Amino acid sequence: MENKTASSNFIRNIVMEDLETGKHSKIITRFPPEPNGYLHIGHAKSIILNFELADEFSGKTNLRFDDTNPAKEDKEYVNSIEEDIKWLGYKWDELFFASNYFDEMYDRAVLLIKNNKAYVCDLTAGDMKEYRGTLREPGKESPYKNRTVEENLDLFDRMRKGEFADGEKVLRAKIDMSSPNINMRDPIIYRMSHAVHHNTGDKWCIYPMYDYAHPIEDAIEGITHSICTLEFEDHRPLYDWVINNCEMENKPRQIEFARLNITNTVMSKRNLKQLVDEGVVDAWDDPRMPTIAGLRRRGYTANAIRNFCREIGVAKANSTVDGQMLEHFIREDLSPKTPRTMAVLKPLKVVITNYPESQVEMLTIENNQDDAAMGTRQVSFSKEIYIEQEDFMENPPKKYFRLFPGNEVRLKGAYFIKCNDLVKDSEGNVSEIHCTYDIETKSGTGFTGRKVKGTIHWVDATNAVPAEFRLYEPLILDEEQEEGKTFLDQINPNSIEILQGFVEPNMESSKAQDKFQFFRHGYFNVDSRYTSQDKLVFNRIVSLKSSFKI
Ligand code: ATP
Ligand code: MG
Repeated sequence: MENKTASSNFIRNIVMEDLETGKHSKIITRFPPEPNGYLHIGHAKSIILNFELADEFSGKTNLRFDDTNPAKEDKEYVNSIEEDIKWLGYKWDELFFASNYFDEMYDRAVLLIKNNKAYVCDLTAGDMKEYRGTLREPGKESPYKNRTVEENLDLFDRMRKGEFADGEKVLRAKIDMSSPNINMRDPIIYRMSHAVHHNTGDKWCIYPMYDYAHPIEDAIEGITHSICTLEFEDHRPLYDWVINNCEMENKPRQIEFARLNITNTVMSKRNLKQLVDEGVVDAWDDPRMPTIAGLRRRGYTANAIRNFCREIGVAKANSTVDGQMLEHFIREDLSPKTPRTMAVLKPLKVVITNYPESQVEMLTIENNQDDAAMGTRQVSFSKEIYIEQEDFMENPPKKYFRLFPGNEVRLKGAYFIKCNDLVKDSEGNVSEIHCTYDIETKSGTGFTGRKVKGTIHWVDATNAVPAEFRLYEPLILDEEQEEGKTFLDQINPNSIEILQGFVEPNMESSKAQDKFQFFRHGYFNVDSRYTSQDKLVFNRIVSLKSSFKI
């Protein structure tokens, strides 16, 4: 069920006030990803906030690729971002690329120079850092700060033409080297870079810095509320300075909220890219990744992600959400609509010695015990079946109610069977067990003659479909990070377990993204990367109950 009641939050209150006072008649928000990686669940929070806020007040939301850094950006990322937003269920009103505003950004920089509000500086990166000062000490004026307007115009033009090497010259805003806010100490607004840009090619040898580009992008598009994460709070004075001094007509308002953090999860494209590049995961959409593509491949639903993001709400202070909460929302979403079936992940063969040779009977089993509307299916039963290895013990402890020599259990949807004998391989492992069944105990016939304490699942060995199962634990262990170590030292060596087992024959034609609840094992999704004509591969989306400690 989709819980779509808009919950109140401080950003929504600001928007309502701006509409009531007539400051704005229509609101426009934007989602502005840098196309330097795939989106993650943190981005989902921002997407949901921006799109739903605008939607609630009949406003608009733009998708804007913030592609002002030529070095790290790629068309593959642009495509994946569009796909992920659509999959999450949102439609942007307009699609923009920040790089299409390079001309206007350049013109506004020239305006700043003409108004004596920007200058070309030749300090090296090292010197510039030293001149910047610290939180306690004011910065020092650059020796280049007093260049004339004419000289600055000429140098900036030559920067544009590519006459200088990368790092040789920058354009800086002329603000205040003694400001208590370091961001205001003559920040760089343009730098040299002889790089080829994915959109503008080699037209530009200078590129605008984020703090200069972003407010101009927002203003050009008439964004009313520019929502970003808390680390930009200290940049807001600079955002406003750019809007005002570049004489932008529209005056967007920057509002910061707390980014989403989740336990056992790295949430930065840079770190996620490292996991891909170093082969820790198989791709950006590895089911262990917190990327939208990874969650989708694993089997998470857009509905569950939306409900999760709405539930955690919008806060002004950073915090970390327990990963189990996301799991709760996925179970809640899948439970009513996912058919129950049986899969054996670690098979042990059972021979039912008193069952007629070569007889196959069809049993009718419900697809969801709690919902008759989901119907029934036919499941075959014969002399040989598979059960889970862990459902048999030769020497069981007390209170073990599954199979052991002399004990009787119920086979889900079938008969009672009793274990009489076992066979061991040359290494002494149990390779097969021998049981007898009682025809009187057939499921659905109302047998009440005696009770058994254990019910186990099974599949018919004569026609079971081989399948691979991939079980996951968190990719990152949540330990205190030791000094000098990075998140790469915290990779969980057991983040994936791959098992070869069987599913019911009627699942043979399953397609990528089909979802099932395997009796006692949890929710599974057919993997889209490894499933082929000859092989079914399942990802465990989530167990039935939380299985790991946090
Ligand atoms: P990353 O560090 O993962 O690259 P980013 O903030 O640099 O994140 P952008 O592509 O610039 O990534 O982000 C686009 C939008 O998504 C921004 O408005 C940003 O504030 C928001 N966003 C990014 N990460 C989170 C998060 N963890 N929670 C909420 N919003 C986020
Ligand atoms: Mg970034």
